[in-house]
Amino acid sequence: MGSSPPNKPPKQPRKVSRIFTFLKPTKREERQLEPSMPEQQTVDKSEHGNIATIVEAVLESNPSGSRDVTKMTGSPELGLLSQQSTGISVKAVVDDARDTSLLPSTNDEVEQPLRCLRPEEYTIGWLCPLEIEIRAALAMLDETHQSLKTQPSGDKNSYHLGRIGGHNVVIVRPYKTGNVSAAMTITSMRTTFTRVGDLLLVGIGGGVPSTPSSDSAFGRVRLGDVVVGTRDDKVPGAIQYDNGKAVDGKFVCTDYLRDPSERFQIALQHLALKREEALQAPRRSDPLQQNLQRLMAVHVQKRWRKKFGFPGRSKDLLFSSTSTHIELAPKQPICDKCDRGALIKQKYDDDEYDPHDVEVQDDYITVHRGIVASGGVIFKDAAQRDAMVKNLGVKNILCFDTEAAGAVMGLPGLVIRGISDYCDAHKPKEDVWHGYAAATAAAYARQLLLYTPAMSGEYIPKSFVETYQEDVANKDLSALYKWLDLPHPLNASNQHKFLREERVNGTGYHFLRNTQFTKWMDFGDVDWAERLLFCFGEPGAGKSFICSLVIDELHDRSDKPLIAYMYCNYRERRKQNIVAILGNLILQLLRACDDSSTDSVRHYMLEWHKLQRRKYVKLESMMFTDVLLVLWEVLTRTSKRVFFCVDALDECDHETQIGLLKALTTVVQASNVAIFVTSRPTLRQLVLNHFGVGRSLNFLQLRAAREDIELYVNVRIDADPLKGYNPRPMDDNLRMEILEKLVSNAEGIFLLPALQIASILEGVNIRQRRKLLKETSNTLTDTFTIMMERVKSQNPQLVALATQTLQWLTLGREILKVEDLQNALAIDSKLSRSCRC
Ligand SMILES: [Zn+2]
Repeated sequence: MGSSPPNKPPKQPRKVSRIFTFLKPTKREERQLEPSMPEQQTVDKSEHGNIATIVEAVLESNPSGSRDVTKMTGSPELGLLSQQSTGISVKAVVDDARDTSLLPSTNDEVEQPLRCLRPEEYTIGWLCPLEIEIRAALAMLDETHQSLKTQPSGDKNSYHLGRIGGHNVVIVRPYKTGNVSAAMTITSMRTTFTRVGDLLLVGIGGGVPSTPSSDSAFGRVRLGDVVVGTRDDKVPGAIQYDNGKAVDGKFVCTDYLRDPSERFQIALQHLALKREEALQAPRRSDPLQQNLQRLMAVHVQKRWRKKFGFPGRSKDLLFSSTSTHIELAPKQPICDKCDRGALIKQKYDDDEYDPHDVEVQDDYITVHRGIVASGGVIFKDAAQRDAMVKNLGVKNILCFDTEAAGAVMGLPGLVIRGISDYCDAHKPKEDVWHGYAAATAAAYARQLLLYTPAMSGEYIPKSFVETYQEDVANKDLSALYKWLDLPHPLNASNQHKFLREERVNGTGYHFLRNTQFTKWMDFGDVDWAERLLFCFGEPGAGKSFICSLVIDELHDRSDKPLIAYMYCNYRERRKQNIVAILGNLILQLLRACDDSSTDSVRHYMLEWHKLQRRKYVKLESMMFTDVLLVLWEVLTRTSKRVFFCVDALDECDHETQIGLLKALTTVVQASNVAIFVTSRPTLRQLVLNHFGVGRSLNFLQLRAAREDIELYVNVRIDADPLKGYNPRPMDDNLRMEILEKLVSNAEGIFLLPALQIASILEGVNIRQRRKLLKETSNTLTDTFTIMMERVKSQNPQLVALATQTLQWLTLGREILKVEDLQNALAIDSKLSRSCRC
């Protein structure tokens, strides 16, 4: 008998709640003080209609599994959200990107989940305005990263993220060409990627063939060559030619752009040396050629291979600056009718080069270092081009472009241009050299990055990155938790913890063995009505304890279902409104979703929360139907079984009761959901009305079982505070008498023996205790009367204190904490007397 662990002596702070628990039945008296509450009412038609629509829509669309939330709620935002969050996956993102052919299409890369880095981990910006340049740039990445989940509201740019060597690179395309657009793009980029310190401007540009390159060994600029903006004495690698002033009749450029950082300048020389070495070796060992091969490996389609491939020197036609271009029909060969006599022969390594010799495939990529002049003009006239070069008075201008100036204004930057034309009238319409020039520029940029050391701390190992991502995700999640959570006394888990501690081990097992209960708990593919279990019990029958037992039993299940519960409390009925309760149920489900099978629940909730945060919406101001819809969405995103337990439905106010019944009717339509509800029998009719009279519902009558009462009383006697005293205050005979009397008194009400054994054990010897036992009654009212009489028989100070305490506890609008009660009792007695009218 004494094998069960004795009930722990109650700790001081818990006393108030114990008193509260024991005084629970006085609610009946309390109610007499208030206007009578309607117990059974007709269902509010308008709101019911609303829910019915949802339920119908759910039922209609549920079998197929696809739901149109927009149709259900009339909320396009939620509909969109729902679409976005269902089936969103890395693969989908990749596939999406592949549809626009912007990502490498090798099959093995599709299967790889992309890494997701935080913005601070990117240190290199890569700006390219044309789509063909973006394609070339993407092919140069060693690793593609996931797009950012969020970026500051001011930043409208779209980024491609990835890694080359030890550098994490942000590839961005201005929304249009030109300096202004480039400047805006870079400004926005820096608000998101705050640690981007170097910029590469990679793309095509117009060559200036009239200027000999300072690397004169390579002669003049040819199509497909690369021009790298490099400082020439006092002039930096990039100048803005349309921003200057006239001095002595000559244009003087005033806007010199920032030099690339030192590490790039060093890497540039390093790479030049390496390529000279490569010249001696077989051509394929040239790293730039190898980088071009990456592009070909990615773009296997003939169309793209042609676009990015070397067009052949026969298509590199340089006419004298005075030669005019003759426009032809689109299909005819370029410059077919132009003056071939005006062609300038190209020199390379002293060998005469014949432009008409189609056999010549001189595709060595020459890298020239010189000045890039940037401005708003696209030159289509050789004479104009040469005049501008002359006018600028700057030596070694090798290239014109339209973006560098805007972009390099703020950041140290390096301009890398593949030469796609000669800025003259013979600019072929077909843009024969665009693809190849974009490719050579990207190939050079990649190689340069590989030769540029990453600064220490720039490259962050994967494990750390992943940990950090989790931290960020957790931060969002805890914000969401906070948003959904209820204040302390309503916190379901606190209530549950309290009940579990109060529960005597071993009690309640008769309930868990009940076939109606086990059938409900092991539900299979059954009608929704069978997944509902209503337990009705008189006050003090131990409904809350049974509910806590059921919750623990569900927690112990091997299939690890999701469980959400709520202990309704009459005293907190103002705060326990329907929206708060639903929010708390969602929160519990979300917290329980802790493995990968429930990822989509978390994802959906985070996205939804983001939407609410953006609109500054608080949970309490949300519509009941909206919160219910979210709960529904959560349920449909998990294949796990979900159990809802609601204790003391009768303790909510009527509006909340109706709301809860509606919510439960809705959620039980999800075939993975089962619901457990406890209530006083007074709500029986309301429940029947709600679910439809005539439908057979799972109703269970709750009564305290004899074995539970015996167990409980024995545990209390074993934990007798006077145990071991002399003379002995308890013997086996008295124990038997107590058990017999209390069990027969109880009549299914657990609270009676609980109160009575406490009162009996206050006797200090067997005689007193026997007398107290004799006084016990079989009704709660009598028991309370007896208790009150015993209180009144104490000394006057204690009577006053007890009366005040009981007044505060029973008439207070909310559950009082011990400290609150202490403060309340400390109020001037005169004041309290004047109130006691
Ligand atoms: Zn021409």
